[in-house]
Amino acid sequence: MITTRFAPSPTGKLHLGHAYAAKVAYDLANVSGSRFLVRFEDIDHTRVRPEYYGEILKDLEWLGFSWNGEPWRQKDRFNHYEKALEQLKEMGVVYPCYCTRREVEEELTHLVQAPQGPEGPLYPGTCRALKCPPNERDPSWRLDTKAASHIIGDLSFHDTIHGKTSVNPTFLGDVILARKDIGTSYHLAVVVDDAAQEITHVTRGEDLLPSTHVHRILQSLLGLPEPKYLHHKLVTDQLGKRLAKRNDALSIASLRKEGLSANLVKKMAHPDFHTPPRPSSS
Ligand code: GLU
Ligand code: ZN
Repeated sequence: MITTRFAPSPTGKLHLGHAYAAKVAYDLANVSGSRFLVRFEDIDHTRVRPEYYGEILKDLEWLGFSWNGEPWRQKDRFNHYEKALEQLKEMGVVYPCYCTRREVEEELTHLVQAPQGPEGPLYPGTCRALKCPPNERDPSWRLDTKAASHIIGDLSFHDTIHGKTSVNPTFLGDVILARKDIGTSYHLAVVVDDAAQEITHVTRGEDLLPSTHVHRILQSLLGLPEPKYLHHKLVTDQLGKRLAKRNDALSIASLRKEGLSANLVKKMAHPDFHTPPRPSSS
C-alpha cells in the first residue's frame, strides 16, 4: 500500500507548479488501497494567510483531486515537534544559536574559506562551542552535524528519478531545526509528520533534494522509518524561472476565471508544457 501527500503552504495561491506536485503524488497513490493526503505546512505564522486554506482545497477539488481524511495542519502539531526537539537535545545533536542573520553574514565575511552549500555559504558553526551563552536572547536550535555523523553512520536514500544517493551530513551544514520565533522548522516538522502520517513515498520538487540529506539524518536520529523519494522537475515560466507568487496569471484561480477547463489546466501543469507568454501581475 502506498501513501503519498501533497503539502502546500497556505501563503499564496495554488499555481501550475503546485498542481503538478499534487498530480505526481496523486497519480502515484492511484492504485487500490492507497492513500493520498493533503497537509498544510503552516508553521510560519508570519507568512500564512487564513483565506488560502479554503482556496487551495477549492482549487484541488476543481482540478479533480480527492484526498483521504481531513487535511492536517502543522500548526496543530507543535507539541510533537517540541518532543522531537527535546529528543535531539538529549542526544546532544543540537545546539543553541544566538546569532542574528546579520551576525552570521558578518562572521562569513571574516572567514578565509566559508563553508559552501548548494545555495551559497553555510552557517560557520559560530555557536557550536559556546561555553557561556548570552542569555538575553532566545536561541534558535541548530543540528550539530559533526555530533550527528558520529551517531548515524552511513545513510542513503532512494529516489525513483535520481536513484540511490549517499547522505552527505554536512551538505546543508548546521541547519536550523527550531527557529527562535516559531520553535520549529520545515525540516523537523516534515520528518515528524511524514512518519506520523505513515507516508511511504515522499514526492516533491527537485529544489528540495538537498533537504532530503537533512531529513534522512533526522529520521535516523529520531528512529523514524525511511520513506521512498521522488523529486520531480519544477514547472517554470516562459523565462525558465520556477513559478512563484509573482506568476499570478498562472495561478489555478486565474486560469479557471479565464474559462480554461480543469483538464487543460492539468495538462498545462507539467514541466514540459510551455505556456505562452502571459502578462505578469507585478
Ligand atoms: N511545503 C513545501 C512546498 O510547498 C513542500 C515540502 C515537502 O513536500 O516536503 O514546496
Ligand atoms: Zn550562532
